[in-house]
Amino acid sequence: MFYINNIGVYIHVPFCNEKCPYCDFYSVSYDNDLEEKYINSIIREIKKSENFKADSLYIGGGTPSCIDPKRLASVITTAKNKFDIDNFAEITVECNPSNDFKKMIPVLASVGVNRISLGLQSAVFQERKALGRKAKPEDVQKAVELVRDEGIENISLDLMLGVPKQTEQSLKSSIDFCKSLDIEHISAYILKMEENTPFYKMKNILDLPNEDEVASLYICACNELEKSGFNQYEISNFSKNGKESKHNLKYWNCDEYLGFGASAHSFIDGKRFFYDRDLKSYINGSKSVLDGEGGSFEEYLMMRLRLTRGLREEAVKSRFGYGIPFDIKEKAKSMEQYGVIVCDDEGIRLTQKGFLLSNSIISKLI
Ligand code: SF4
Repeated sequence: MFYINNIGVYIHVPFCNEKCPYCDFYSVSYDNDLEEKYINSIIREIKKSENFKADSLYIGGGTPSCIDPKRLASVITTAKNKFDIDNFAEITVECNPSNDFKKMIPVLASVGVNRISLGLQSAVFQERKALGRKAKPEDVQKAVELVRDEGIENISLDLMLGVPKQTEQSLKSSIDFCKSLDIEHISAYILKMEENTPFYKMKNILDLPNEDEVASLYICACNELEKSGFNQYEISNFSKNGKESKHNLKYWNCDEYLGFGASAHSFIDGKRFFYDRDLKSYINGSKSVLDGEGGSFEEYLMMRLRLTRGLREEAVKSRFGYGIPFDIKEKAKSMEQYGVIVCDDEGIRLTQKGFLLSNSIISKLI
């Protein structure tokens, strides 16, 4: 088994001002008292952790930007000191534009945050309304300007595909909006109906595009983003040259990462573990739960086929000591005729059409 020395560190901030009706991420309503206790617990756990060297730090949520800037800064500083995170590391904070954003960004810049990921989802009024997004596209624009003013040069926006009432035309106008902001990275996720969300209960009355329409929206997004200078490097991720998310690449490369906070997952030394989706038990010092072994060839194949570079023969050899197994290559070749997969001397990769069917292709391969 091959492991790198530098890990990625993830910190989960499970507070949101309001719950969006489609969202299944672990988050609770903002509460100042709980926030203070939670942040102290994260700092306590970071200090207790084994000493690793990290080259990426990702603060996700929830909405990290809705908490006290000084507390967030102290978490970042503690993690940087503990994991020897230097100026070349990628340090990302997920944010939503809000009234407090103006106070937050200078503080984040002062502690070395160099990448901001903003939730846009759509630039179209009726789609944003359906998604429960209160901020207007102009607020996102102002947020981008504020981030730039503070010298943070790496900005990512989230877009959502397959939202109620979305058409190719409306999607193109959201992409044009992103283009006009001259940002570096876009994540474009297909909306999933997660159980236990209000959207799931309403799915029959929401004006959702059907499966074929969602597939067309996805292909449309890939083509439009490509034309606008965003190279696709993963099923849902697009970037300008050299601006791929270093942290998220660790997940898709099956590299090691350490998570802190309720619901955070880790993969270290061949083991996967996670904390329960329960903020109070995290505050009370609950231990992480072992989730079994990780990093098998099957898992690596599954993750690498999310990337446009796909499963590379050389990388498989250097990680596992053997090349891509013959039977997997044969199965992949048999699917080439459908235009979903490409096999060549370098390895196996999925096409855009293949990305839409990735789950069934991967289960056929393994
Ligand atoms: S989508 Fe983001 S802002 Fe909305 S509830 Fe989920 S984590 Fe919070």
